[in-house]
Amino acid sequence: MAGEHVLVCVAWPYANGPLHLGHVAGCYLPPDITARFERSLGNRVLMVSGSDEHGTPITVTAEIEGVSPQEIVDRFHAINTQALIDLGCIWEPNIDPRGVEYGGALFNRTSDPSHISRVQENVKSLYSSGLFEQRTMEQYYEVRENGNGRFLPDRYVEGNCPSCNAEGARGDQCDSCGTTYEAAELVNPKSKMNPDAKIEIRPTEHLFYRLDLFQSLLEKHAEDRWPVWKNNVRAMTKQWLDMGLRPRAVTRDLEWGVPLPFDNEEFDGKCVYVWFEAVQGYLTCAQIWSERIGSSHPDGINSWKNWWCVDEEGQSPRHLYFLGKDNIPFHTVIWPALIMGLNMAMNGLDSPRLPQAGDLHLEDNVPAMEYLMLAGGQFSKSRKHAIWVPSFLERFDPDTLRYVLTINMPEGHDTDFNWSDFVEKVNTELIAAYGNFVHRIMTLAARLPSENGSSPLIPFEDLSLNVQHTKKLEELHSAITDSLKRHRYKEALRTTMSAAQYGNQMIQAAAPWAHLSPDKEGEERNSSLSTLAFGWRIVRFLSIVTQPFIPFSAQRLWSMIGQSGEVTEAHWDSAIDWTIPMTWSGEDPQPLFQRLDLDEILAGEGIVADEHVDQDGPSTHSVKGSSRSKKDGGPVTDEPEGVTFLEFDQFLAVDIRIGKIISVDDHPDADRLYVVNIDDGSESGRTVCAGLKDYYKPSDMTGLNVAFVANLKPRKLRGVMSEGMMLAADDGEGGVCLLTVDSRIKPGSEVR
Ligand SMILES: [Zn+2]
Repeated sequence: MAGEHVLVCVAWPYANGPLHLGHVAGCYLPPDITARFERSLGNRVLMVSGSDEHGTPITVTAEIEGVSPQEIVDRFHAINTQALIDLGCIWEPNIDPRGVEYGGALFNRTSDPSHISRVQENVKSLYSSGLFEQRTMEQYYEVRENGNGRFLPDRYVEGNCPSCNAEGARGDQCDSCGTTYEAAELVNPKSKMNPDAKIEIRPTEHLFYRLDLFQSLLEKHAEDRWPVWKNNVRAMTKQWLDMGLRPRAVTRDLEWGVPLPFDNEEFDGKCVYVWFEAVQGYLTCAQIWSERIGSSHPDGINSWKNWWCVDEEGQSPRHLYFLGKDNIPFHTVIWPALIMGLNMAMNGLDSPRLPQAGDLHLEDNVPAMEYLMLAGGQFSKSRKHAIWVPSFLERFDPDTLRYVLTINMPEGHDTDFNWSDFVEKVNTELIAAYGNFVHRIMTLAARLPSENGSSPLIPFEDLSLNVQHTKKLEELHSAITDSLKRHRYKEALRTTMSAAQYGNQMIQAAAPWAHLSPDKEGEERNSSLSTLAFGWRIVRFLSIVTQPFIPFSAQRLWSMIGQSGEVTEAHWDSAIDWTIPMTWSGEDPQPLFQRLDLDEILAGEGIVADEHVDQDGPSTHSVKGSSRSKKDGGPVTDEPEGVTFLEFDQFLAVDIRIGKIISVDDHPDADRLYVVNIDDGSESGRTVCAGLKDYYKPSDMTGLNVAFVANLKPRKLRGVMSEGMMLAADDGEGGVCLLTVDSRIKPGSEVR
């Protein structure tokens, strides 16, 4: 069977609150992009995750709200599942549209009875293999009036920090000074939920997993994976292994969890520690998926083994784990130790080994993310400093979020989300660069006569005239593929967008709008229109390669150019198959995205604009034509339809002057901007940032005498002060031209 088996494992979110943008950027978008990409390569992808519904985070939320834990997890499992689907993550349908042997996805929950019984079976077999050791621990116990009571998990105990004496320190750690300690060291301990209750320390029996037995195997395993792991994954794993592994407690005195499966009074009222249980979800979820799809897969309920086990020839499926940086050691140390323990139990071995034929496979890559911050601070569920996904998606196109979070993905370091950056990226990158290119091609093509509904570009297609462009697109395709394989999502998306920029420049140079009329027949027309026809090829290319990132607009584009079916069914490599017959939908071209208005958004968020728009505000005022015209799509909310009259004094207030362009450089920090130096007649000259990259090469601008607005309030654009605005004409179809005068007039002259 062709197609590699790829298991995409996604960190399990706690079902005690809605997901926020930080979760999405760190844990949920990267695996979705990867799963979509791997599918389009023809691979067999099974994606697994679900709600983590046990443990104290859930019970604390329930006790605070005064409802049952079940009510909490039911509510947030439903909300989060829907949010991920609304965001376009491929959790539905559960079976890959190409067929069940291609896999699918399951967003399960740890309260699933099948998960619970499988975890219990696993715990029993690890126990019989001697992988647990029993120890007595000292723990706080809340004594009730009637003589009953309960053991208190660390989150349920508060007191004064033994180190800094801060109040409200938790049972195991002080949030004020960061010190960790044994619960018994806490000063003046109280039950958090029941501060008047008497509490005392009592002995309690717990099971510890023998991590120490796996030390050398884990070192060997980490060494094998070293070349593909990211720096943060290497560093955290090494830190844990260097400290030396010790047995780790895997049970708790808590009712809300998977009960320990032993007929032994000592273990009554105890459950499997939530991290030890939820992490097994990666395995149980795959097993439950194949249980549910049942006989439809040729391998029936054992089909999960295709994604989990080393085969008889020693070939392994590929395992990718997606999580935030706080979770790295659980996935590179504890989980592999648990998997090797299960392999040991399954094979009846006396000691663990690295996986062999028939065994469960260990993780290959763990492209863990750093954090996405919110306006400079850390997202926090508990402190409610967050933007929640469901409310975001009520107001915005999911692709805008997917785009901005990907281009800002916290891959190598923490990154920041703020509204002005969101608006700027949507308006200038998604709309002005990408959307504009697509719209140019479609509207120009629509002006050519179409016969019987076939593409009007077909008569002009001549690839021999476009060799340089095919070569460029093939290069870009290979670069995007390479970046995605290495989990460099930002880089991949940036390269994808550069294909649209390239297309804009290509069309600008070919100027097809000058050759649309049939009475201009000739070689020059053929060449120009063959470039326009190649523009259609780039649009199709973009539809396929943007699909993993912004799937909704990719599909809109796919239909707009008359391609049938779903873009998700197109093979990744068909983006550069120049022999695909050219299609045409005949529909009026529609803008792909709606323009956003920062002031409106901030007002909706209850934020005063001036507080939050720093000097890095939107740069749309750099070129008049590209910022406010209808072609970019969406209504311009702050201008009325039709003509707006201007008072004469208002007109006089605009100081338009002539200047000579001295130099043009790339903006150091904004892909779409030039930094233009203008001789304005003054000694120092002036600097203007301009979004003209799609229309002019620097060498074509240098020396031009241009008109500019001289008294526009200076504004910093991504760190460069822009002192004015050059005037340009825009024909609404992609032609943008600077207003120039000849050299008889000297720099600094006023325009009246
Ligand atoms: Zn402290």
